[in-house]
Amino acid sequence: MTSVLDRPQGRHTGAAPRRRLLVVGNGMAGARAVEEILARGGAEQFTITMFGDEPYGNYNRIMLSHVLSGEESDADIFLNALSWYRENSITLHAGVRVDRIDKATKHVFSNDGRVTPYDTLIIATGSRSHMPPMDGLYTPGGSVKHGVFGFRTIDDTRRMVQHAQQEHHRRAVVIGGGLLGLEAAYGLKSHGIEVEVVHSGGHLMNAQMGPDGGAVLRRSVEALGIRVHTSSRTTAVLGRDMVSGVSLRDREDIACDMVVVAAGIRPNVDVAVLSGLPVERAIVVDDRLRVQDEDDIYAVGECVQHRGEVYGLVAPLWEQAVVLANHVTGADTSSAYLGSRTATKLKVAGVDVASMGLHGPELVTDEHIVFSEPSRGIFKSIVVRDNKMVGATLLGDSRKVAYLTQAYDRGLPLPDERIALMFDVGGPGEAVGVAELDDGAQVCNCNGVSKKALVDAVKGGCTTVSGAMDATRAGKGCGSCKLLVKQVVEWAADGAVEEDPAASYYVPGIPLDKPALMAAIRKQGLRSVSQVFMALAPGSAEDAKSKMGLASLLKMMLADQYIDERDARFINDRVHANIQRDGTFSVVPQMKGGVTSVQQLRRIADVAEKHNVPLIKLTGGQRIDLLGIPKEDLPQVWADLDMPSGYAYGKSFRTVKTCVGKDFCRYGTGDSTKLGIEIESRFQGIESPAKLKLAVSGCPRNCAESLVKDVGVVAVEGGRWELYVGGAAGAHIRKGDLLATVDDPEEVKLLTGRFMQYYRENANWLERTYSFVPRVGIEHLRAVIVEDSEGVAAELDAAMQASVDSYVDPWSERDDPLTPGQFRTSLPLTVLPQVPVR
Ligand SMILES: Cc1cc2nc3c(=O)[nH]c(=O)nc-3n(C[C@H](O)[C@H](O)[C@H](O)COP(=O)(O)OP(=O)(O)OC[C@H]3O[C@@H](n4cnc5c(N)ncnc54)[C@H](O)[C@@H]3O)c2cc1C
Ligand code: SF4
Repeated sequence: MTSVLDRPQGRHTGAAPRRRLLVVGNGMAGARAVEEILARGGAEQFTITMFGDEPYGNYNRIMLSHVLSGEESDADIFLNALSWYRENSITLHAGVRVDRIDKATKHVFSNDGRVTPYDTLIIATGSRSHMPPMDGLYTPGGSVKHGVFGFRTIDDTRRMVQHAQQEHHRRAVVIGGGLLGLEAAYGLKSHGIEVEVVHSGGHLMNAQMGPDGGAVLRRSVEALGIRVHTSSRTTAVLGRDMVSGVSLRDREDIACDMVVVAAGIRPNVDVAVLSGLPVERAIVVDDRLRVQDEDDIYAVGECVQHRGEVYGLVAPLWEQAVVLANHVTGADTSSAYLGSRTATKLKVAGVDVASMGLHGPELVTDEHIVFSEPSRGIFKSIVVRDNKMVGATLLGDSRKVAYLTQAYDRGLPLPDERIALMFDVGGPGEAVGVAELDDGAQVCNCNGVSKKALVDAVKGGCTTVSGAMDATRAGKGCGSCKLLVKQVVEWAADGAVEEDPAASYYVPGIPLDKPALMAAIRKQGLRSVSQVFMALAPGSAEDAKSKMGLASLLKMMLADQYIDERDARFINDRVHANIQRDGTFSVVPQMKGGVTSVQQLRRIADVAEKHNVPLIKLTGGQRIDLLGIPKEDLPQVWADLDMPSGYAYGKSFRTVKTCVGKDFCRYGTGDSTKLGIEIESRFQGIESPAKLKLAVSGCPRNCAESLVKDVGVVAVEGGRWELYVGGAAGAHIRKGDLLATVDDPEEVKLLTGRFMQYYRENANWLERTYSFVPRVGIEHLRAVIVEDSEGVAAELDAAMQASVDSYVDPWSERDDPLTPGQFRTSLPLTVLPQVPVR
């Protein structure tokens, strides 16, 4: 499948035609090489085309470990948004694989049937997970068995999270106790899964550290509740259609529901081999990153073998990208890549591990300084040769990591008292260390940011640490260099670093926190997003990232006085439907409390038939989802349904899940269905800082899962109702806190509305109740909402009533689109995978 971004056009004004630069692989190295080329005026020399077989823009693969553990959302790890390709006139074929290169005629052949010519070619195909030979790994059809995962791509990570979150999946085995395996194990553990690591080496991370460090690391990993089996090998994956366990060479089988294989990587060299390029362990390149014996083909990143070395980390590829760009553009034809020194850090919260160079002495003249305190999980080992640091392993205490990494990379002079390398005992102060760094010293390895880039950002006016981080991307990878980034910025600003006030802004484009912003809006009588920018933004500048948050806030504050502006809305809010991966939309009619009727079912069936709806699905929120509707068909589908919107999109009140309750259930003590419908009728469509999901259960058996909802209601003995707030059962799991126990359903509705209004007025933009409730504290919420300790209850109730009164069904817009293009289809900017039709 192919999608083409805007074709390169018009920028070039000179006489010579631009040459065709083609890049195979849109990963970290490919995109970085193009960035470096553009920085050297490449846009004037080349029309640029990129092929990447993942259907996305360019993302930070390093961060997948944080996505797996739930510390980061996958949406936040993109390095180059699709707009970046457009703005730089790069044609991106996302989701398209290059199969072969014809170097004689200078064309590449891709799996969408396209044949694309080039003048200069860059291969940046990276690596893939290595699946070691063992029985039962594959199905007879040749695909990997259900429940077995590699850990390489965003799709792998999403699938793992999904699998781990299924309630009946309780146990995982990770094959491989290296960096990636331990990060995978920790990530799965965060989802409440029991994890065992099987590692063939004698100790964990044996490629990065010696046995003593490995023993200390093992204790720290086991302290997280992860079981470790070293010197052990998996011989088979058990289970017929789906994983049920693994067999080990010399121990008992381990039962499990999923297996993650993190047993190393293999460079993606198939294209190069097929095309007759020189491949040994990887594609062989020279010091210019030019493929051996080829004039017009370069290679970069993990698919490259340079002077016999193949690298599996990002720092080398940043260095390679610079040299490659210098040659491709002719900016510096003397530039040479001479290899990289690599340092590794483990991204597992609570287990600090950094390792670089040698694990231990190799020559009799090497000095080896070791400190070990296993009971506290601390181990430090430093190897010094000719007064230069040639290796270090640090566990459990990372305070000296920044300095040691630089000492290792740059060969800094070492203190005579070697102990100062490990502890702050009058050794080189941090300021001295930072001042001594070369300009080119890499401060942030994940994003390849040098000291000079940070200093330039400060000189260019970034006077806050976060400003310099935003400007350079430093510290936005694994995060372990943040301390050093801060030190460099402070040093460069010579003490003039400012506190970052933006941390408290409600939205980034307006320099006010939420109470001050609300007060200013009220005082000045502002009613639309553009009026707010005009009155309160510096230079009246509109900021795209602030629009949705402002629109939601204004709607909450002003109810029917709010002036709606379409461009302030997210696509789902603009068309009142849920955009899906393939660019079509899903439509969910309202079904209050999960209750429907014969007429409604018949109408839904008729509409599905008339519009050839490819998939009809029951949602987790007890509604019917019609999937696969093209954007331009939405108004007609709504008209044919002639039902209100079910709010399956947007930052707003969504649904109330109910159980059958006392009329039907043998255990029920309360009429949960009736109350659920009443709550849903009252609060339908209410805007809030983040989505709100509710439930009502007829007894403490809790069939509607009320304890893990933003607001959950449970009927208890004596006709009473318990009200829980701040629960969640998504990527984050939290049992709600008991707000109140009340006597009748009217009180439930009153307190639900009051809590929602308090949350609407006080939560940060996109802050779910599971963060808001613990931040504010349930005692405080009880005092304000139930006991009215601040005397604001009547105001909260009145504000909620105003919002309830101003409700208009958004699907009624169907006859009167607010903009001509509201329901016009737009070509997807990326190749979107087809949603499978079952
Ligand atoms: C979970 C995880 C955590 C990591 N943590 C760290 C860390 O903490 N520190 C660190 O330094 N490194 C880390 N790494 C390694 C780092 O991500 C890699 O070194 C880096 O991504 C390599 O970049 P690359 O561009 O060479 O390969 P990739 O980023 O893999 O990009 C190659 C791209 O090319 C595509 N492709 C391949 N063949 C074709 C074809 N024929 N046609 C079209 N497209 C093709 C691939 O699908 C891929 O999108 C981690 C990796 C993973 C998976
Ligand atoms: S929560 Fe109680 S009342 Fe509702 S269905 Fe379950 S057992 Fe019955």
